[in-house]
Amino acid sequence: MATSQNPFIQADGKKPTCMEMLQTILDGEATREQKDYFKQHMDGCMPCYKEYNVDMAIKELLKAKCCGGNCPEGLVEQIKAKVNSTIA
Ligand SMILES: [Zn+2]
Repeated sequence: MATSQNPFIQADGKKPTCMEMLQTILDGEATREQKDYFKQHMDGCMPCYKEYNVDMAIKELLKAKCCGGNCPEGLVEQIKAKVNSTIA
């Protein structure tokens, strides 16, 4: 019996890193399966949990501040770097 397969594993068998999984989720490109898997993964992975929540908080903030959520490319990264340096 196979342990629950990581749905993020690509066709070539390459196992994605936490960051790659997170990026897929945040880009809105994840399948339902991948989202479910990641939610479980987050329970035991503090860096992912932290990063995910910081990212979501930033996106919500930007959505509220920017018209239609059309934020300049790179702005999210800048804020994230700032937030990360404070919570690290
Ligand atoms: Zn992780």
